[in-house]
Parts: sequence; structure tokens; C-alpha cells
Amino acid sequence: CGIVGYVGGQSALDVVMAGLKRLEYRGYDSGGVAVLADGGLAAAKKAGKLVNLEKELVDRPLPSGSTGIGHTRWATHGAPNDTNAHPHLDNAGRVAVVHNGIIENFAALREELAERGHTLASETDTEVVAHLLAESFSSCGDLAESMRQVCRQLEGAFTLVAVHADEPDVVVGARRNSPLVVGVGEGESFLASDVAAFIAHTRSAIELGQDQVVELRRDGVEVTDFDGAPADVRSYHVDWDA
Ligand code: GLU
Repeated sequence: CGIVGYVGGQSALDVVMAGLKRLEYRGYDSGGVAVLADGGLAAAKKAGKLVNLEKELVDRPLPSGSTGIGHTRWATHGAPNDTNAHPHLDNAGRVAVVHNGIIENFAALREELAERGHTLASETDTEVVAHLLAESFSSCGDLAESMRQVCRQLEGAFTLVAVHADEPDVVVGARRNSPLVVGVGEGESFLASDVAAFIAHTRSAIELGQDQVVELRRDGVEVTDFDGAPADVRSYHVDWDA
């Protein structure tokens, strides 16, 4: 239901948790975060209110890192429990993905993945994306390109945001029939389903267009369509008070 992504000089976990809180008004049943740190990926997720996730982060702290993603879930496929909460990871635990919306053809993709030896842990439509991204990344070594390849296989409505431990300074997002906004800061960049998530940090925003993929780095963003053709980006100033 709510999505936040961050890469920059601050603690990604702090920025992402604060962003998720700004999106709480939308309603949700679970929350989760993933950060890239020390060459690896660490994640935490909990059913219920964000306060449950905060408790989990106190009991089992994540290493601090400057790249991270977060999610509040409104379940459509799979019960609202810890396992089905986002982020979802691949079997090697190198890629994490969060998702708003519904992937209509997930059952067929799940079956294909199982035949190729993947073990799926949740009942969600989302988890297939983590496994597909991991497969693509292992052949092309580029998360944005992997996202484009995966999106071309997906049907339905989705905002997707992902990180990969082998690209520690990158967050990638994609959207079809579901909103995603980029926040452009000084030496830091944000991604969110709603500008409210990052308005405390920057008021320079880019609305992602239909069927576009964005690669987010500290010093800027690159937007393409699902085939990799560069897209025009125009930033605008968010002038309302959050
Ligand atoms: N369809 C996904 C799920 O049920 C995402 C739901 C959402 O938009 O939060 O896990």
C-alpha cells in the first residue's frame, strides 16, 4: 500500500521508517524494510502496525546502511502474516522487492520458477518478482535492466521497488497502473508511492510515467521505458504543506 526507497548519506532505515509513517494514513496490515550494508542485504518484516516492526528492529537490529526500501502492505494474495509481508527476497537473499498492486499472471510464473528449482516461501503474487529479478541479474548484472526484463513478463497493476546486494548504491523502481514518485535531493534520492513520504527532505519531484523504470543513485536518476529507451524527465516543485 505504501512504498519508500532511499539512497544517500543518511541512515536508510531512519529515512524509510519515517517515510512509511507518513503513509500510515492510507491503512495497511503489515510492514517491512530491507537495507544494503556490509556487502549484504538485511530485512525485517512484521504483521500489524509499524510499532510491531519497530519492536522487531529493537530486538534484532539491522546493520546500518545508506540504501534501503520499505513497505506497508494491504494484502490481496495471502493472509496478512509475517511471511507474506514485504520485502520478498530471492533464495540467495541478495535481492529484495516491495510491491503495490496485483500481478495477475503470478500463478504461471510461480510454476515456471518452481520448475527451475526456486523455492517460494510466501503465498503472495509479489514473491515471483524477487526470484525473476535474481535470475535476470545473474545473467545481465544490472538491476535496472533486470527490472525491465521482468516487467515485460508481468501482467496487472504494479509499483515495484527493488535493491540488490551486488549494486549497493542503487534502488530501482517500476510502475504500471499504480503510482511512483521520485524525490531528487542533494546527494540523496528518494522513491515513494506518495510525495508525503519524502517531503521533509526534498520538494523536487519527478512523477514516473506509465510503463517506466527508474534507476536511483545518490547523484541522480535515469528513467527508461520497459524496453530501455531513455525517457524525458521533468521535475516539478511540490508546494503543498504535508
Ligand atoms: N498484492 C500484493 C500482496 O498481496 C501487494 C499488496 C499491496 O498493494 O500492498 O502482497
